[in-house]
Amino acid sequence: MREFERSKLNDRYWTEVDHGDETLPLPAVTLPPLPPKWSAEKADAARSGIWKQHEEIEIKCTTTICDADLHCFKLTKKLTKQLVPGACRDCGVPLVSLARTAERDLSDIDSTFAAMQLECIRHYFWHVPFGERALNYALRAGRDQLMERVEPRIRSGIGRAEHPREGRQTPVAPDKATALDYAMHAVAACCRKCAEYWHGIPTGRPLTDDEVTYLETLAKRYLEVRLPDLPAGPTKVPRRRIGDNVHLLAPASRTNRADQIHRGQAS
Ligand SMILES: [Zn+2]
Ligand SMILES: [Zn+2]
Repeated sequence: MREFERSKLNDRYWTEVDHGDETLPLPAVTLPPLPPKWSAEKADAARSGIWKQHEEIEIKCTTTICDADLHCFKLTKKLTKQLVPGACRDCGVPLVSLARTAERDLSDIDSTFAAMQLECIRHYFWHVPFGERALNYALRAGRDQLMERVEPRIRSGIGRAEHPREGRQTPVAPDKATALDYAMHAVAACCRKCAEYWHGIPTGRPLTDDEVTYLETLAKRYLEVRLPDLPAGPTKVPRRRIGDNVHLLAPASRTNRADQIHRGQAS
């Protein structure tokens, strides 16, 4: 029987089951219900909810705001001995079934997306407004081209057995991240480590075509939801925008503010 950091665990999430003489390797865990339905603000919506209040937080893979139900399920080797899979590395509470998301069942996509939004970095990329670079990238591409770029982006980012910049191949900062990068983070196709714990895809070997297709479908669903009004064809976006020339999708003041925050320049 493994030892668990019981003191860190919130009792309401746990059910003790008496198995008599038959000891199971893990105690039965009753997970709390997921949010009723996955959701995302439009890419040009204002910051809302928790992200309005936590603008100063630097977003990293391991960022947590457990009080706001934003956790991190990436466990270190040491933590895997203390916590069950799907437990938050910070508060220790088991919240999601990574066995379920690892089924990679598209008919269960709502629960997969809902589970992902309990992770801080995923929730961030589902809900914050796109940075100017990401929006311009999407506009210049247009919906049709953007969608066509998803598959090659997955292959170039995480398709090979090893990436020379594994773990850092998908930019986070709004001045660097394109719309595709937002999608990669949101659906945990950003690096092999995230794809491993969320999707049950082993590291150290190339992705199979089925795995690429699955991740591609998730990323496309994400882009459809966040960019519902993206024109099918390319939009000309001037390199430097002045005044009213700013496209409706990206009010400059707001994205500039977001950029400053991420560069740590906000007052
Ligand atoms: Zn937590
Ligand atoms: Zn990642």
